[in-house]
Amino acid sequence: MEEQMTFQEFMAKVEARNPGEPEFIQAVSEVVESIWDVYESNPRFVKANVLERLVEPERVVIFRVPWMDDNGNIYVQRGYRVQFNSAIGPYKGGLRFHPSVNLSVLKFLGFEQVFKNSLTSLPLGGGKGGSDFDPRGKSDDEIMRFCQSFMAELFRHIGPNTDVPAGDIGVGAREIGYLFGYYKKLMNEFTGVLTGKGINWGGSLIRPEATGFGIVYFTEEVLNTIGETIKGKRVAISGFGNVAWGAVQKVNDLGGKVVTLSGPDGYIYDEDGVSGEKIDFMVTMRNSNRDMVQDYADKYPSAKFFPGKHPWEVPVDVAIPCATQNELNEEDALKLINNKCICVVEGANMPCVPKAVEAFQKAKMLFAPGKAANAGGVATSGLEMTQNAMHLSWPQEEVDARLREIMKNIHKACVEHGKEPDGYINYVKGANIAGFMKVANAMCDQGLV
Ligand code: GLU
Repeated sequence: MEEQMTFQEFMAKVEARNPGEPEFIQAVSEVVESIWDVYESNPRFVKANVLERLVEPERVVIFRVPWMDDNGNIYVQRGYRVQFNSAIGPYKGGLRFHPSVNLSVLKFLGFEQVFKNSLTSLPLGGGKGGSDFDPRGKSDDEIMRFCQSFMAELFRHIGPNTDVPAGDIGVGAREIGYLFGYYKKLMNEFTGVLTGKGINWGGSLIRPEATGFGIVYFTEEVLNTIGETIKGKRVAISGFGNVAWGAVQKVNDLGGKVVTLSGPDGYIYDEDGVSGEKIDFMVTMRNSNRDMVQDYADKYPSAKFFPGKHPWEVPVDVAIPCATQNELNEEDALKLINNKCICVVEGANMPCVPKAVEAFQKAKMLFAPGKAANAGGVATSGLEMTQNAMHLSWPQEEVDARLREIMKNIHKACVEHGKEPDGYINYVKGANIAGFMKVANAMCDQGLV
């Protein structure tokens, strides 16, 4: 057998194999670093070369997506589906429509999804897909034509027992509707091939809110470890999309106050708190396809707009970045630490750059990674799949109770695998090890495939 590699040698090999994919390398490096000792000390994993197999997607599909705008102009977008790992269930993960989408971003997201889905304790493999299509400024008809063209190719690669996509940035209830309608037409089959469906055609109650609710349930668990709760806390949230929307609702439910939201154009600070009808206005902003948070400050005089800036300069107790990857840099992290923020929970996937995470951990701050904290979204997608398979739908209370229980269990797993000798809980390590063990063991059990 080949002599055992060091972590550095392993990463050098991954980098050489995946040139020009910085986000993917970043995600792999974070996971592999925290599971390295566990991996190395497990001869079964080493013998099966599980780690090298785990960082290679099982399949990547890339396809042309031509579409026509309302004026008859024709454009070509690139479509993707990264089917990363199916050791513990069918590939599962969202579709992202955003101009920043490329292979590196989707491989990072697919890789993260493998561990996240494993943490949910449901039988879900990991995948991700999407397109560099920019929904900004597009009409409803243009969105529909794009979704139909996208599904005209994707349909042959997915299925309720093969790969079950869902939403992500730029893909919400409307897009899932158009995608589902076209799949059904092509396959002549009404089946739970996508999650995040409308409530009258196979969707699950709570799914729209689930990612945000789950994040705040998880935050509550994290705060409980130091005898604190959300109640009375000032919370900074970034983004204003689906994840932020659910999180704002639940922070309000639990008695906290959300004082910021953000967009690509800057952030708003609302000392009165984002609550009541202002939460509904987040949906209006999202549906406008403008992608500008300034609209909030234009509508509500209690809010001030700070163009081109990040919300992390505002003094808060809890920060929940819910926008996108690498949105919170080292400088932002130092501001939060200086302002005595006690807890940072990642709502988005990998929103904090590695140096920011390092700074939080060095300051012994409570820090939870997205793959643990935002797993409630995909977990509730898993519950939607279960309901579809049983041809019934659970009441809201039941879905919410299951979601809450799942988030509690993920937190427990993070503590079990991440508690350090001095009592500090390293949630990054905990989440990565807990997610990894299950997938790695399943891969070993299933032989060399
Ligand atoms: N896009 C979400 C995520 O990042 C949800 C995926 C799903 O529901 O399949 O986990």
